[in-house]
Amino acid sequence: MKNQYFIDLLERVKKRNQGEPEFIQAVTEVLETLEPVVERRPEFVEAGVFERFVEPERQVIFRVPWLDDNGKLHVNRGFRVQFNNAIGPYKGGIRLHPSVYSGIIKFLGFEQVLKNSLTTLPMGGAKGGSDFDPKGKSDTEIMRFCQSFMTELYRHIGSDCDVPAGDIGTGAREIGYMFGQYKRLANEFTGMLTGKGITYGGSLARTEATGYGLCYFTEEMLNANGKDFAGKTVVISGSGNVALYALKKATELGAKVVTLSDSNGYIYDKNGIDFDCARKLKEVERRRIKDYLEFHPEAEYHEGSRNVWTVACDIALPCATQNEIDEESAKILAKNGCFAVSEGANMPSTPEAINVYFENGILYGPAKAANAGGVATSGLEMSQNSLRLSWTFEEVDARLRDIMKSIFASCDEAAKEYGLDGNYMAGANIAGFLKVGEAMLEQGCV
Ligand code: NDP
Repeated sequence: MKNQYFIDLLERVKKRNQGEPEFIQAVTEVLETLEPVVERRPEFVEAGVFERFVEPERQVIFRVPWLDDNGKLHVNRGFRVQFNNAIGPYKGGIRLHPSVYSGIIKFLGFEQVLKNSLTTLPMGGAKGGSDFDPKGKSDTEIMRFCQSFMTELYRHIGSDCDVPAGDIGTGAREIGYMFGQYKRLANEFTGMLTGKGITYGGSLARTEATGYGLCYFTEEMLNANGKDFAGKTVVISGSGNVALYALKKATELGAKVVTLSDSNGYIYDKNGIDFDCARKLKEVERRRIKDYLEFHPEAEYHEGSRNVWTVACDIALPCATQNEIDEESAKILAKNGCFAVSEGANMPSTPEAINVYFENGILYGPAKAANAGGVATSGLEMSQNSLRLSWTFEEVDARLRDIMKSIFASCDEAAKEYGLDGNYMAGANIAGFLKVGEAMLEQGCV
């Protein structure tokens, strides 16, 4: 970073957010790519827009007590970070994973501001979650946790204020329990959560949206560079919501997806992963990915989730978690001939890995653009709730596709305008920031 004003600002961010490396990593990347903007637009500096942009508007941390099936009490910690509502109500998912702490939620909320801006829809950015581990819990334990979590969260959210959604560990089951508890406490039926079940206000195609959107974005990026999915070998990490539907759409677009993973290891199927089998195992039966071999004995299972990047591929779609591709993994991908990395997970590549992509001419689709299809479709769910009607699967899917096309175009154009042709990471940060920054300028010192 060369701009002195940004160097000083980053120092203050580091001091104020000690012990939160993921947040500092996300802010550093964004400020580095906004350097051309700060030089062209001094009014943002004069109005303190950047200082306000890196500081959440509100952060809530709360106790979440719940009883397990044996009557034993457990206490988890709940979070909601309402980062920025300059262009619309706060919006962002709820992550339930033992690794959750304020640095993770803050980095996700910060990224969400830019991502939501890119969708073209009026949504601010937020994120929430808890260090609760849903793995191995019974349905009734999950329900008691979700009810306790919402008993505090409900006073901070609402359909015109803050609209949470799913993320790691929060799927349709958890959203259902949280929605039920909100309705009971607030005595109103409104669309204050997205990712809801179809029978009570959910949108068709929301389940598929992040994975499908990732593939639509990636296809645009590939096409712009004279390539496509057809006939290519694809490596996907993770086996949750994003990974499964990325597998489905990439396969439909003519690619062969040869891997899926979880936090223990990965499966390799040289014939291409069987979507119906993987979906049943993970989404319906909540089993581990290695159980795939019971139905496909010709496939292989390997311990160690990071080793998934040693599998040779043309295109890599990381869909598990942050910092899952480090420098070493990125070098292996490059050596094996991978020519595109497009991110389904949030911040799955370390800064060193991203450098490797650029050094090797690998096309890089950054998370905040490539995985924005989930929140975009959540925005469409909010529209349907407000209109009190439901669109067909095909209608939502067509809108999603158009949104992903326009997100790619915004990234591409912003990168070109600022002399960074082909750097879609810079393009995403610049295009996402400019919309929010202009709104903050016009709204004054708030
Ligand atoms: P799920 O909970 O459905 O699945 C998460 C998957 O990632 C699981 O296979 C899980 O394996 C694996 N995983 C989680 N943590 C780790 C870890 N520390 N190391 C290795 N593997 C891990 O989550 P989603 O599919 O919804 O989310 C995946 C990513 O996509 C996240 O980064 C999320 O923020 C991002 N995202 C999700 C959106 C959505 O709409 N759902 C929207 C935009 C982004 P295991 O079961 O072993 O934990």
